[in-house]
Amino acid sequence: MSEKIINITKGLVRAEFNFWVGLYMDKFYDGLEQKKIVANKCPKCGDVFVPPRKICGKCNETIALDQNWVNLTDTGTLTNYTITPYKINERGSRKVKKDQIIGMVQIDGSNTTIVYKLLKIEPAEIKTGMKVKIEWQEKTKGAPEDIKGFVKV
Ligand SMILES: [Zn+2]
Repeated sequence: MSEKIINITKGLVRAEFNFWVGLYMDKFYDGLEQKKIVANKCPKCGDVFVPPRKICGKCNETIALDQNWVNLTDTGTLTNYTITPYKINERGSRKVKKDQIIGMVQIDGSNTTIVYKLLKIEPAEIKTGMKVKIEWQEKTKGAPEDIKGFVKV
């Protein structure tokens, strides 16, 4: 017999999503709606996660939902990047007209990276380790695309 793992998540489904993203991600998206970066911190090893997660990947500690939240700034460091003519957010990898720069950014105060476009920057100017800042959508809706991308600080 194989082992069965059953996960139960309690909460309400928000209508604007196609699926329930979970209580941790919901808190993150609520933050984005207010143009804030909401992270959580492992109470055991102190690692800080953007987006927040339930279980620390480093020490396997469960991070309680009712505490361990931290607000971070919307600035970060570019840790890696790639230049590609392909869209990253579509399964079909449809070709786009123009090359776009995709960056991995470590938000200041966090131990993880998030992947977004780098905007208003020429390929020749890019260096890993450079400081970047979020460019927010004018109107946010509590979704990943509230972050348009990152620009130079
Ligand atoms: Zn930990």
